[in-house]
Amino acid sequence: MKQFNRYMIIEPSSDNRLPKVGVSACLIGRNVRYDGGHKRDMFIADVLDKHVYLIPICPELAIGLGVPRETIQLIGDHQRPRLVGVSDHNHDITDIMESYADAQSNQLNELCGYILKKDSPSCGIEQVKVYSKDGKQFKRRGRGIFARILMEHHPFIPIEEELQLSNATGRENFVNRIYVLQRWYTMLHNGLSPAQLQEFHTIHKYLVMAHSQTGYRRLGKLIANQSGQDMDSLSKSYICGLMSALRHRANRGSHSNVLQYIMGYLKKRISHDEKVGLSASIDSYRRGETPLSAPINLLKYYIRFHPDEYLQKQVYLQPYPDIIGLRNTI
Ligand code: SF4
Repeated sequence: MKQFNRYMIIEPSSDNRLPKVGVSACLIGRNVRYDGGHKRDMFIADVLDKHVYLIPICPELAIGLGVPRETIQLIGDHQRPRLVGVSDHNHDITDIMESYADAQSNQLNELCGYILKKDSPSCGIEQVKVYSKDGKQFKRRGRGIFARILMEHHPFIPIEEELQLSNATGRENFVNRIYVLQRWYTMLHNGLSPAQLQEFHTIHKYLVMAHSQTGYRRLGKLIANQSGQDMDSLSKSYICGLMSALRHRANRGSHSNVLQYIMGYLKKRISHDEKVGLSASIDSYRRGETPLSAPINLLKYYIRFHPDEYLQKQVYLQPYPDIIGLRNTI
């Protein structure tokens, strides 16, 4: 393996209980950009940082480009561009960046998510400028070299640019997925078995339903037909299907449908007045008058007084720590 800056080859501590999330170092305020500046993102650096274990990485610094440094760009074929100096196209750092991205991606075990800086020829995920060989024209059709290899290594992990986290539904969707992955890793640590996988699926049912009815049906079939299947390949198919389903953003309509389902489940236990109150709360949320936290809190209140084991274990009611407050914003 090539020798890279040790500081940037991160070996996450295995006993850290928070979900591990990689991040472009400039997004949390590190002065690692080509001009010695940063692109600090307040949500990532001030809010998310308190609830996940952020792993800051600057690929350009890690491969030995200093600060400040010559600016670099992608050139050539947008599917396989080269990473070169803007003023000197002979300064080609594609190979070293690819080797670094390979080495770093292999080190990132049990990663729950990654946030990358948009537009960067190293970190950008989509619509990164790729220039013609003479450097005079460009098309926004590229992906940064580090981002491409990271995504190839970690196909089901939520990997987003910071722009996707700039609105409430994008943030909620990302945070939701990283906590699902953390529960997945915990289950694997406890030992994967058909019963464990069935239980994992059961507690995530309503959550998946809110994001994708198609995904919900597919995963149900996968679990129903698991007898005699190899657990390793079944678990890989399951987690890939689950993460792909959760990528769809839930909306007021799909959340309201799930809330109605849960109300239907509870209806024999709650009083007429409680039913009327809950129904009104769901309708009010569906119309956009209240946030998701309003009907969810009412549901949780009723479930506390009318306990039901199946509902109490549903992740949908508490997918991540309340303290993040994201359900007050969607
Ligand atoms: S975008 Fe990536 S390579 Fe550029 S400064 Fe930020 S972390 Fe470093």
